[in-house]
Formats: sequence, C-alpha cells, structure tokens
Amino acid sequence: MEKRILLLIIAFMAVCLPACNMQSEPYGKFDTVPYESEDFAMGTVIKQRIFGSNAEEISRKVMERIREIEDDLTINKQGGEINKLNDFAGTDFVEVKEDTLKVLEKAKEFSELSNGAFDVTVGPLVKEWDVFSENPSVPSKDKVQSLLNLVNYKDLTIDKNQSKAKLEKKGQMVDLGAIAKGFAADEAINIYKEHNVTSAFINIGGNVALLGGKPDGSSWKVGIRDPRGSEGSYIGIVSTKDKAVVSSGDYQRYFIKDGVKYHHIIDPKTGYPADSGLIATTVVSDLSVDADALSTAIFVLGLEKGMELIENLGGVEAIFITARKKVYVTEGLKDIFQFEDGSRGYEYVKKR
Ligand code: FAD
Ligand code: MG
Repeated sequence: MEKRILLLIIAFMAVCLPACNMQSEPYGKFDTVPYESEDFAMGTVIKQRIFGSNAEEISRKVMERIREIEDDLTINKQGGEINKLNDFAGTDFVEVKEDTLKVLEKAKEFSELSNGAFDVTVGPLVKEWDVFSENPSVPSKDKVQSLLNLVNYKDLTIDKNQSKAKLEKKGQMVDLGAIAKGFAADEAINIYKEHNVTSAFINIGGNVALLGGKPDGSSWKVGIRDPRGSEGSYIGIVSTKDKAVVSSGDYQRYFIKDGVKYHHIIDPKTGYPADSGLIATTVVSDLSVDADALSTAIFVLGLEKGMELIENLGGVEAIFITARKKVYVTEGLKDIFQFEDGSRGYEYVKKR
C-alpha cells in the first residue's frame, strides 16, 4: 500500500512539476509551453507570451526597457525628456537621446503623411480635455479655439545631427500617447530576437506585436475587439505572423456628459474628439510604431480618407468599424481576417 502511494507521488512529480514550475523554469525542453506574464506600465496592462529558454528573464528585460521608454517619453510624470522639451517650448532646443529622437521623427513623419490628422503637438488639447482625470469636463469653445493655435506639427523642429528638438511657441506640447506604445512593442520584439527567441507575442494596451508564428508553424490569432461589446468580445480574428496589429477606438478612454460621449482621440482641426463616423480602427503592419500612429490617424480621417491613406502607403492593411456598425477591411486583409461577430450586430462589407 505504502509502496503504491510512493509510486503515485513519484509519477505525479514527474508529470506535474515541470508544468507547475512554469513561472520559474526555462522551457528549453518544453518548447510548446509558453511563459506568460502580465505587468502594468504606460498606464496600461502589458501581456507577454514567450516560447523558448530563459523566457522569464527575457520578459523582465522587456519590462525594464518599457519602463525606461516610459520615463523618457511620458508627460504624466516629471523628469522625462518630452517634459523637458515641452518646458522649453518657445525658448530653446533640448538635447534628447537617440531613441527619443527616433520616435519624434516618426511622429512628425506621420503628422505630415496624415496632413495633421495625427498631430504630434496635440498635447495642449489632450491636457485640456483631460479625459483621464477623475472629474473631466467639457472645455469652453473659446478655450478650445485658443488652444488650436498651439497645435501645429510644423512647429516641431528636429535637429538630427545634434540630437536636439525644439517647439516654436510657448505653451506648445508634444504628446506621444498615440505612438510611444507602438515603439515600445517594437523594442520588445528586438529584445526577443537578441535572445534568439523565434516565437513571442506582446500586447501593450491594444498594441499587439508578433514575433514569428506559433511554435507549430501556425499563425497567431489576434482578436479584434467589439467596440460596443464588453472586454473580451470580438468582431473578428486576424491570423498572421511577424506583424504588428494595433487598434484605436472611442471605447478605450472617454467620459459622458449630458448624454454626449467625449473620447480621447482629438481631431486637431476642430479641437474636439474626432467625429469621423468611425468607432474603431485597426492597422496591421511590419512595425508597431507605424501601426500605432496610423490607427490613430485613420480614426481621425474617417473611412474614405483613411482608406486612401492606407492604400497609398502600401505594405500596411487596416480594418475600419463605422458608427453604423459596418466593418470594412483593405484588400490585403481579406484572406487573413475572419469576420466572427458574436453579437450579430455588425455587417461585414467586403466591397466598398
Ligand atoms: P491611441 O489612438 O493610440 O492614442 C490616443 C492618444 O494619443 C490620446 O490619449 C492622446 O494622448 C493622443 N492623441 C489624441 N489625439 C491625437 C491626435 N489627433 N494625434 C496624435 N495624438 C493624439 N495613462 C495613464 O492613465 N497614466 C499614465 O501614467 C500613463 N502613462 C503613459 C506613458 C506613456 C509613455 C504613454 C505612451 C502613455 C501613457 N498613458 C498613461 C496613456 C495611456 O496608456 C493611453 O491610453 C494611451 O497612450 C492611448 O493609447 P490608445 O492605444 O488607447 O490610443
Ligand atoms: Mg495609436
């Protein structure tokens, strides 16, 4: 009897311990079991799934890097490089790190490409609307009008050779909220590659970046959130490898006042939350930084102009969800996007 129990204990240990130890053991021998982690930075949840050896240590390195990027690029706490650039607006150039310069350059490039629908200098309006605060309120028309004078990406000068940047007018503010999480996701993918990982997934608050496919060679499946459903509900699935899949929408951060919804994506032409007829957008591209900026840009531009921008760029694909609950996808996504609307409230429009 005792011998049988002992044998059972040994068998249990042989089968179960490697799995129970998932959080601390390297996975060299168990390549099909990913290491999964969940953290918090940049005001959002960060999920990683890594296949291969030393995954836990690699995920820690990724989080260290993300926190470093956050410290440099945030405008939510003091001491960062973007805060310094904003403090010196209208006064002088500010020296910044190479990576900060890289993100500023990308942000200016997408401001130009979208003709200011994405505007890296939208900061003063974002601060005034302050949808993140406990008691947000609707600013007066005059206030919005006066702040619009401060929003113009052409007023951001970047001196690449000397790694310096400057804002032209006092009161102007760079806000990288629509692009920095994308940059961070690209950095995570670079760290995975440096450590010879060939299969990994990271999600930084809706910015998904994929390295390779799953270990069995199949594609990752990324759910596209139902913008009017609860968290975890989807309107479809994108199956892909080695891509970034980034979503923006009016459902992420907003407040309601007198029955009107005010969300966090501002139209830099009007100074008010974008009202383009879209409620959510997703961009699929090689780089997450591009997909992040573009998902915000096309949300502001609306279906027609947004579709035109994506088609003209080439190499990027997009999903548009309209307020009338119609779902449009670009040509290149038709084979890898599966429309799966649990709510049955959406209409998949394959042709425009
Ligand atoms: P996106 O569409 O990608 O971006 C929308 C955001 O971009 C807006 O919130 C605004 O900041 C900005 N924006 C609005 N309109 C435009 C426009 N037309 N053009 C360009 N930009 C625009 N949140 C917290 O609550 N606490 C924090 O401590 C915090 N720290 C952060 C630190 C960093 C470095 C970053 C990047 C973000 C931080 N956030 C924080 C913000 C938070 O995570 C935001 O919700 C997020 O950045 C918005 O991203 P999104 O994917 O939801 O939407
Ligand atoms: Mg974005």
